[in-house]
Amino acid sequence: MRILVVEDDINLNRQLSDALKEAGYVVDQAFDGEEGHYLGDNEPYDAVILDIGLPVVDGITVVEKWRASGKGMPVLMLTARDRWSDKVAGIDAGADDYVAKPFHVEEVLARVRALIRRAAGHSSSEIVCGPVRLDTKASKASVDGMPLKLTSHEFRLLSYLMHHMGQVVSRTELVEHMYDQDFDRDSNTIEVFVGRLRKKLGVDLIETVRGLGYRMQAPADMR
Ligand code: CA
Repeated sequence: MRILVVEDDINLNRQLSDALKEAGYVVDQAFDGEEGHYLGDNEPYDAVILDIGLPVVDGITVVEKWRASGKGMPVLMLTARDRWSDKVAGIDAGADDYVAKPFHVEEVLARVRALIRRAAGHSSSEIVCGPVRLDTKASKASVDGMPLKLTSHEFRLLSYLMHHMGQVVSRTELVEHMYDQDFDRDSNTIEVFVGRLRKKLGVDLIETVRGLGYRMQAPADMR
């Protein structure tokens, strides 16, 4: 899962980005509204954390422009504590949720998790696919109750596939959601990661769809 953090306060941006990375996400950072708008317009994010008070272009205008051009990714706005009008304006502009400053990073993480889950159609913090369980809260996975030891890449891959269970996901899509913008991307490495993940899962749940990509079987597909 890949997140964009748009926040001009350098320390706060770093604090959020570090916490997100620690929780297993890939993170791109922007420090003004123009840069943030450009990245959100051109890269596929699973969620965006967007400050309202930004240099060059403010956060409300940024989310308005994204929505006007059909960008539907979940957006969590950061607002000033006492500015209720900002919250209303943010939601009206197309934001999905907000957190008022000052906040606890844990709250932001919980809201981001919930936004990503809901966008993928899951209401519970645990996503289950047959014997495989993904605990989005603890960033952990297990098979038949046995914890899986996954590298950060393997976890991101499993998490993306499980959030999109039953759907065919292309290699390009996986690359775009597993690496940040500065990473030297090579879609061939995805095959290697899928191979390793299959081995660790021990159950055959990741199907290769010839010429299209991969599909994590939804429980209804299992016999
Ligand atoms: Ca600000």
